[in-house]
Amino acid sequence: MARVAFITGAGRGIGEAIAKTLANVGHCVTVTARTEADVQRVADDIRTRGGEAIPIVCDVTQPDSIAAAVAEAQRAFGPITILVNNAGAGESHRFLGHDDALWQRMIDVNLNSVYHVTKAIAPMMVEAKWGRIINIASIASKVGGKYIAAYTAAKHGVLGLTRALAVELVSYNITVNAICPGYVDTPMTDWSIANIAQRTKMSEAEARATLEKISPQNRLITPQEVAAVALMLVGEDARGITGQAINVDGGTVMF
Ligand code: NDP
Repeated sequence: MARVAFITGAGRGIGEAIAKTLANVGHCVTVTARTEADVQRVADDIRTRGGEAIPIVCDVTQPDSIAAAVAEAQRAFGPITILVNNAGAGESHRFLGHDDALWQRMIDVNLNSVYHVTKAIAPMMVEAKWGRIINIASIASKVGGKYIAAYTAAKHGVLGLTRALAVELVSYNITVNAICPGYVDTPMTDWSIANIAQRTKMSEAEARATLEKISPQNRLITPQEVAAVALMLVGEDARGITGQAINVDGGTVMF
């Protein structure tokens, strides 16, 4: 059955792969991010292949922007019953002397955003008595990492919110799950590689190899591998899966 999906951060990387994968199986996809050219390109690609998509500019750190985007999506397609909270960003800083503004940015874009977007959309799922909420968390939702205290705290928070909502929304036939990727081959990881190279004087190839070695599979995950799990979770056969945090990380973290 075709559903209406709202995907944040769908202008590139993991969000783009999820938008295209859900559109491929017939869902109507709302492609959102801040950069108009990106969401336009992704929506155009989907439509060119015969899918249903609209591009909407939305900043997930701004509740007014979220409200406007959700209203526009609903006008275009009707009630939203699939939500993928994917938008996020990573910045690093050593904890001693940590920059307070960076802390706030990380919490706003990675955690508060999930709260605000979900709060705006969940009532439609309650009304429909069917819903799928998928939060793109991280293995940083499960383990600590050096120099990423703010990102790690935010992503742990996403997992807490996932579990709390799974319990609270279960009686409405809504599932709430998190996907926890390891390093994925996206623009975000390209920036991490450039940052490591710049700070350590490694070449970019060496910095990339360092990230690949974190995984027992000695590689980066592809965005499509994350999208495949999202596709599984929106399916009817996944109705028994809720409150889970599924790692897609080549076996880096095993809980
Ligand atoms: P990218 O940086 O490649 O893409 C991020 C997307 O989010 C872009 O479309 C960006 O568009 C959008 N975005 C960023 N800030 C905002 C904002 N304030 N409002 C709306 N949209 C925003 O990242 P990835 O695809 O790699 O990451 C996607 C998610 O996966 C993130 O939550 C990330 O934390 C998580 N993740 C990524 C991993 C990785 O290794 N790449 C590993 C584990 C988790 P724009 O800037 O135009 O708004």
